Amino acid sequence: MTGTILFVIALLAMAVGLFVFRAIPGMRAYFEYRGKRLITCPETHKPAAVDVAAVEAAVGAFVSEPALRLKQCSRWPERQDCGQECLQQIEVDPQNCLVWNIVANWYEGKKCVYCHKTFGKLNHLDHAPALLSPDHKTVEWRELCPEQLPDIFSTHSPVCWNCHVAQTFRRLYPELVVEREQEPKRMM
Ligand SMILES: [Zn+2]
Repeated sequence: MTGTILFVIALLAMAVGLFVFRAIPGMRAYFEYRGKRLITCPETHKPAAVDVAAVEAAVGAFVSEPALRLKQCSRWPERQDCGQECLQQIEVDPQNCLVWNIVANWYEGKKCVYCHKTFGKLNHLDHAPALLSPDHKTVEWRELCPEQLPDIFSTHSPVCWNCHVAQTFRRLYPELVVEREQEPKRMM
């Protein structure tokens, strides 16, 4: 009887060990492939925003190899039947095509056009910074279509969140804004 219980416990321990052993690559695949990405569409040679089916990739990695498939693309539903050849770009460098990383790299080291504060590393918990359009309107980067960001980055300027809020208020309620002339510094 005791021998049977020990055998069952050993079997259970082996099953748990095997599960944990397989769960690690599964979780790694999930965290690696989640998030919006920008790829160059092999058909149009223009940027497209895609999402990989991260849960499916995790299950694939759990049982053998991560099976990559798109869950969403900015060219869908029109081109939903495409061959998803862009997945090769994601497999080669999953991090480099993440929209968040592309945006963070663009802002880092640049200065806000209004207050000249230098942008550091973007943090997911901070307010999203903004962009100043050629027609002098500020907009948060998250409100823009990700696939248009590469073009937008070449025509817009970086704006910090504080200045974006101030400029939006100024634009929406110009009658409430009082322009004060800056007092000249007193000579000692
Ligand atoms: Zn600023």
